[in-house]
Amino acid sequence: MSAIVRGLDEAARVTLHHHRITQASWRRHYFGAEATTWLGDRCGCPDDRCIDYHHDAHEDCSCLLALIADYEGSGA
Ligand SMILES: [Zn+2]
Ligand SMILES: [Zn+2]
Repeated sequence: MSAIVRGLDEAARVTLHHHRITQASWRRHYFGAEATTWLGDRCGCPDDRCIDYHHDAHEDCSCLLALIADYEGSGA
């Protein structure tokens, strides 16, 4: 069984929270106001194949930190 898990995992939620970014605004930033669910990977990367592709499952997502820096820099 290979159900695709949607939504952000604990680490991603905590990281976003640290940066005072809500899950909703993070989602809207990448997928628009119409998106009701997170379409990216659990680690917070908008690419739904981040874990195992950009990094191993046990590693922190370096994409997320770079994307947050970007997001904050954009003044959104
Ligand atoms: Zn990624
Ligand atoms: Zn990732």
